Amino acid sequence: MKVVIVGGVAAGMSAASKIKRLDTTVKVTVYEKGDFLSYGACGLPYYVGGFNDDYRRMIARTKEEFEAAGIEINTGHEVTGLNPNNKIISVIELKTGRVFEDSYDKLIIATGAYSVMPPFKGKEKLGVHTLKTMEDGIFLKEYAGSPDIKNVVIVGGGYIGIECAEAFLNLNKSVRLIEAGDRIMLSFDKEMAEAAHTELEKKGVSIHLNEKVKAFTGGNIVEQVETDKGSYKADLVVVATGIRPATGFLENSGVKLAKNGAVIVDREMHTSVKDIYSAGDCAESYNRITEENMFLALGTVANECGRIAGENALGGHVQFDGVLGSAAIKVCDIEMFRTGIGEEEAEKLGINFKTSIVSAYDHPGYYPGKTEIRIKLIYGAEDKVILGAQLYGEKGAALRGDVFDVAVHNKMTTKELGRVDF
Ligand code: FAD
Repeated sequence: MKVVIVGGVAAGMSAASKIKRLDTTVKVTVYEKGDFLSYGACGLPYYVGGFNDDYRRMIARTKEEFEAAGIEINTGHEVTGLNPNNKIISVIELKTGRVFEDSYDKLIIATGAYSVMPPFKGKEKLGVHTLKTMEDGIFLKEYAGSPDIKNVVIVGGGYIGIECAEAFLNLNKSVRLIEAGDRIMLSFDKEMAEAAHTELEKKGVSIHLNEKVKAFTGGNIVEQVETDKGSYKADLVVVATGIRPATGFLENSGVKLAKNGAVIVDREMHTSVKDIYSAGDCAESYNRITEENMFLALGTVANECGRIAGENALGGHVQFDGVLGSAAIKVCDIEMFRTGIGEEEAEKLGINFKTSIVSAYDHPGYYPGKTEIRIKLIYGAEDKVILGAQLYGEKGAALRGDVFDVAVHNKMTTKELGRVDF
């Protein structure tokens, strides 16, 4: 039995490791376009921002370790096509240009996603970059390390944009964040997202909402960012406006894709084509609350779905329990957490819900140093089942969020959660 895995970061290497743990006799071959394997891209902003100066700390397992486990690794190899009728993939070795074919019994597609670069004028100028891969991180760290880089503009106020803002603050840059929408952190409800906004402004980030970037100007190197409202000095621009599944090579393969290009999978990670599985940022994931597929690009999900794809490629029938969209983020001196659905999503889904916001302290007032934690709960108006929770605070907010994660996962009611012996 031979399993070929395309993509060697979170989903791909979780699948490869799971297969080898279950059956050492299976031949596992990995094709990875880049030079790095099995790294936590989540650490990239902290590497760029000088919180960690050794990129190897982001690597979970090295090529040598995977090879020692019997996995055949081919970095610098891009898979360019797939013919499921005769179970053949086309591969190019990027350094030499050598093109060849390989066969599989089972195929796992774990190609992740790539950063979207909107068609801004001047986007090809030096100093305009995205942060997605280890290679991006290494480039940005070196580029931003120059004392000539004083003004950094970040386009996009999602998780990555915000983490980049903190990274460049740490490097003592002047940081401006431009967001086309009416708030940053759209995955949080408005009053919770405001905490991140206030914290970033307090630390010196200039935030522009409802403002659209039009162009990057200057010579070969970016000098200005032009928007529909103004023009700002920029020595470096990081565009963080979203990602798209890296599934272009599946065109005409018969593997069914969603509108945004994500591979459509069932809860066992089967694609629409027999013996082909998919997991991670290149695929959709089942949402436990809506009971429908959605696109959610998170490393936590990629790792779990990768393991499931690996087990099921060997004939297993493990079902993915589903995502809740659980995520934690550090925004300078505050921690934020969200799980389940927010108020806006609940409205869109037509759910009869209620919300409750409470403020409490991370520990009792009789001991010094207490800090406030704010918690918002979203629950069914009739059945009181907890649908989602969002928290923020200086200390202990992120990990306390896990409690709500378990409650939402198990469809607990507010009363049931209240009775738990914490
Ligand atoms: P990827 O990590 O994208 O890996 C896919 C690999 O496939 C890539 O290396 C690519 O080179 C390769 N590939 C693509 N096409 C081909 C091809 N045709 N042939 C061969 N190889 C190919 N998630 C969290 O859960 N928490 C966080 O805090 C968090 N922070 C993040 C911060 C940043 C800056 C970034 C960029 C991401 C962050 N994420 C976070 C998201 C997380 O990193 C991703 O969800 C995760 O890496 C997805 O893993 P994956 O294996 O599906 O895809």
